[in-house]
Amino acid sequence: MNVDKIMNDLTKKNPGEVEFLQAVREVLESIVDVVEANPQFDEASIIERIVEPDRVLMFKVPWADDNGNIHVNRGFRIQFNQAIGPYKGGLRFHPSVNLSILKFLGFEQIFKNSLTSLPMGGAKGGSDFNPKGKSNTEVMRFCQSFMMELVKVIGPETDVPAGDIGVGGREIGFLYGMYKRLTHEHTGVLTGKGLNWGGSLVRPEATGYGCVYFAKEMLKTRNETFKGKTVAISGFGNVAWGAALKAVELGAKVVTISGPDGYIYDPEGISGKKIDYMLELRASNQDIVRPYSYEFGVEFHEGKKPWEVKCDIALPCATQNELDGEDAKKLIANGCICVCEGANMPSTPEAVEMFIEKKILFAPGKAANAGGVATSGLEMSQNSMKLNWSAKEVDDRLHEIMINIHASCVMHGTDASGYVNYVKGANVAGFLKVANAMLDLGF
Ligand code: NDP
Repeated sequence: MNVDKIMNDLTKKNPGEVEFLQAVREVLESIVDVVEANPQFDEASIIERIVEPDRVLMFKVPWADDNGNIHVNRGFRIQFNQAIGPYKGGLRFHPSVNLSILKFLGFEQIFKNSLTSLPMGGAKGGSDFNPKGKSNTEVMRFCQSFMMELVKVIGPETDVPAGDIGVGGREIGFLYGMYKRLTHEHTGVLTGKGLNWGGSLVRPEATGYGCVYFAKEMLKTRNETFKGKTVAISGFGNVAWGAALKAVELGAKVVTISGPDGYIYDPEGISGKKIDYMLELRASNQDIVRPYSYEFGVEFHEGKKPWEVKCDIALPCATQNELDGEDAKKLIANGCICVCEGANMPSTPEAVEMFIEKKILFAPGKAANAGGVATSGLEMSQNSMKLNWSAKEVDDRLHEIMINIHASCVMHGTDASGYVNYVKGANVAGFLKVANAMLDLGF
């Protein structure tokens, strides 16, 4: 397989789509061996087929603010691949959203969903709308207008969106409410729903919990545990919150959280009431990081990232490309032994290369944060069966899925020296299932 040629053709077809091209290159470079060992994939042009989305929907979303002014945002749904199940992937509402970012996320989602072992295809969607600073009624009107278009392409057996950055329980509620009004249906067409209207216990925490379960498995391979370890986390959204809770429960000390404008370092550890305090701020749509520094008397490091702090384990849980080569150098120099990605593609290719070269435990988001979509899959199962499982039942299943994903990565990513390249392991395991399904189905 000639990765450079495929990438050249793809770059010509998708000019300027930096994040999408970055995500594709990472996958292709790590599956070269397996594609060469299976000539049927090349003969059927599976690579050329898998890098092209099934369809891309782009639409306008007009909405009125509280003063009656009309705004227009752009909405998207990328239905990337449905070889192994209905399209599944989150919606992101953030001003940075564009076609490239959603195509990168949709492409990653194909392999992530495959890794969970549940029958889910890959998709992603969203809008450049910024929910920050908007009133509840403005967010509601935006979500209703967004759903007026999205409803045309989703359904419980075709495409099941969920949340992502900027889309939490509130947004899912408004979206689902509009879907129901438009269709007269009570189906599991969105996941991340509220508990009173079809949601699953543990879904809010699932991505962060899953990330820590995955890191726990990685640490086990070196006879290590979370107990007594210092953990640096970035962001403080859905994923970071769950990761912080679970890391603390397993005996670690979480010392950082961050936002786009800087981070706080709390040497005493972030846990218990401090986490509750941040959740209150988040629920009322307020900034979290700076207020934390005033409330608990710790320093706010303006314009800096948490990767300069001495830690044993780093959990990047904010956004793509937030940890670069310089950051990786600092983490390695400070003795970090494990980097487990809660966010999607938070480490740049340069950073990933350094982690692998230094043979530290490094897990890519598509494996480590798959617990979120896996628990969405469990929510879909409960909706189909019209049953609610207990928190323990969902958590046990999530834990088992993360253990299995880890085992798949070890199976496909262990090199001759015994080092596990989790990037390769995740990409190969995720790819094989989808590629074989595409061959079988003639996709
Ligand atoms: P949220 O919107 O809930 O949280 C994102 C957090 O990151 C916020 O605290 C935000 O701060 C912060 N942040 C944003 N940009 C930066 C930056 N440049 N530097 C530091 N912090 C920043 O999103 P989620 O927690 O849902 O998602 C986080 C990541 O995890 C994304 O990559 C997402 O795709 C991925 N993911 C999420 C899943 C889920 O279940 N939610 C599932 C799998 C992956 P502020 O609010 O101040 O902007």
